[in-house]
Amino acid sequence: MEIEKIMKFGGTSVGNPDRMRALIPLITGNERKVVVLSAMAGTTNNLVEITDLLYDGNVNEASVKIEALREKYHQVVQKLFSTAAFRKSGRELIDSHLDYINNFTLRVFTKQQEKAIIAQGEMMSTSLFHQLLQEKKIKSALLPALSFMRIDKDGEPDYFYIEENINRELEKYDSENIIITQGFICRNVYGEIDNLKRGGSDYSASIIGAVLKVKEIQIWTDISGFHNNDPRFVENTRVIRDLSFDEAAELAYFGAKILHPASVNPAREKNIPVRLKNTMEPEDEGTLITSSSVLLDYKAVAAKDGISVLRIRSDRMLMAYGFLRKVFEIFEAYRTPIDMITTSEVAVSLTIDNSQYLDQLAKDLKELGTVEIEENQTIICIVGDFRTARTGSAPEIFEALNTIPLKMISYGGSPHSMSLLIDTKNKTQALRMLSKHLFA
Ligand code: ADP
Ligand code: ASP
Ligand code: MG
Repeated sequence: MEIEKIMKFGGTSVGNPDRMRALIPLITGNERKVVVLSAMAGTTNNLVEITDLLYDGNVNEASVKIEALREKYHQVVQKLFSTAAFRKSGRELIDSHLDYINNFTLRVFTKQQEKAIIAQGEMMSTSLFHQLLQEKKIKSALLPALSFMRIDKDGEPDYFYIEENINRELEKYDSENIIITQGFICRNVYGEIDNLKRGGSDYSASIIGAVLKVKEIQIWTDISGFHNNDPRFVENTRVIRDLSFDEAAELAYFGAKILHPASVNPAREKNIPVRLKNTMEPEDEGTLITSSSVLLDYKAVAAKDGISVLRIRSDRMLMAYGFLRKVFEIFEAYRTPIDMITTSEVAVSLTIDNSQYLDQLAKDLKELGTVEIEENQTIICIVGDFRTARTGSAPEIFEALNTIPLKMISYGGSPHSMSLLIDTKNKTQALRMLSKHLFA
């Protein structure tokens, strides 16, 4: 029997025993589905704190945090299950994961062990949820993501491997309607435990949906769909009912936390609708992301922090060709993607969000001209109708932001978006001014 849909539930949707129980009516229809779960809210952060302490050699403090996590999960088990037998096996399950983490306090700590520890959040949430369904006598299967989810040497999903392995694994559970699996975690090209980066459960859901060619990928979270601005910084944001894949991908890439930056791509490639839903308000239709686009002058705004801008100035650029190639080759050598770019006859400004090789990039770029770097920058992305024939949007946006220094402007690169670079300290104000002028 075919899998018809993917239902991914994020950290808050599995954040406590009540929330976990509330998922049951959502997943128990006749359709055959894969249920992708995140770690309980806060757990991945806790695990990252533990691995940071272990890197610092601070074993004592790491042990204190591990025991605090054990205590927290013992309480979850106590409230989640109603029978003594399930409470006992739940505690044993939690102890096995926490003892596994504890083991790493005895050894030299490596990147590989960090990934193995961080994976325990999704392992615990899925096992607890599976046991909850067993206690309630609801048939389901727990399919380990590590048996099929894999990234290649470039960190990209290995679709061939994933498709072959998930289909083989699914054959074992042909009579189950509910297949539970972990989001976020995967194996890498060496077969080691790895992950799809923070927020990666959305990406897992989309990858699984694409390889299984499901009818719909549902991302269930704590808000009723995609809003037209970031609700963490702006009041009175409104839900957008329809988005195109391109629009959603752009907003996610430029900081809309509701979706992992890469999560739209797999669905877009197989043309599978993505629906964003609220676990707290399951009746709300949420947002539907498809290939069709309903054009609006301005649809939504998003902001991405942690940006560095590099400005390269060189008289050798004047009337020359091949200069930009040399610049790009330097970024390529350090495998650092460029987000925004603007050029004049003698200067070029570029932004990056991965500053791991910033010093090396600056050093190499200095061979080409003078280099100026500014960190703590934010890209603001405005999604709407930016087709070239349209007039008036640039003045409206500049008017909205007339008191904010604009450091770079990228217009004309995409028919549905425009981006601006500002200082991060001006972000909240800029988002609010854009909401006031564009969406009032
Ligand atoms: P989950 O744990 O379910 O994956 P996330 O915290 O990753 O949930 O994503 C949901 C959150 O994204 C919302 O609570 C909201 O604060 C934030 N968010 C940021 N930008 C937007 C936006 N444009 N629309 C909706 N939510 C957004
Ligand atoms: N648990 C992971 C995180 O917190 C993945 C996710 O929630 O999507 O980043
Ligand atoms: Mg998320």
